[in-house]
Amino acid sequence: MKKSSEAIQISSSILKTELDYILEQMIVSVEDNLCIGVEDGYDDNSFWISFESNEEEYWPSAGIIEIDVNSDPFTKIASLVHEVGHYFLEKDPSLGSGSHKMFEESVAWYLGYRYFESNGFVIDPEEYKKEMNKCLEEYTRSINEKDNN
Ligand SMILES: [Zn+2]
Repeated sequence: MKKSSEAIQISSSILKTELDYILEQMIVSVEDNLCIGVEDGYDDNSFWISFESNEEEYWPSAGIIEIDVNSDPFTKIASLVHEVGHYFLEKDPSLGSGSHKMFEESVAWYLGYRYFESNGFVIDPEEYKKEMNKCLEEYTRSINEKDNN
């Protein structure tokens, strides 16, 4: 076991079982610290579902993150990090809503990375960028397709 003061370095070259274990720890951290529920997703995608804050609720929850069950463990970790970034952007009172989709998607990748980094989960930046760039290219393509229809 690593000491809690020691950051966990995450890359896709780590054993799958170890990555699964790290993902579990990251999920516990999100559930405990941010009141976000993390669930298995079966729609070939990962996403963030925001809840309206309801103070009267006995178990207040900020929202739910669904993680695509069919992804490999490293992609699941990157997806969790990105969706947590959406949560942080949404909480921003001035720039949290009304921005271009590409701004939201890019900033979510950034904020999520910084959040986990400050909590001791450091993802290999080159690999993270690769995953991030792949997803940003997909968003760009889907936006362009909509524009052409
Ligand atoms: Zn996103």
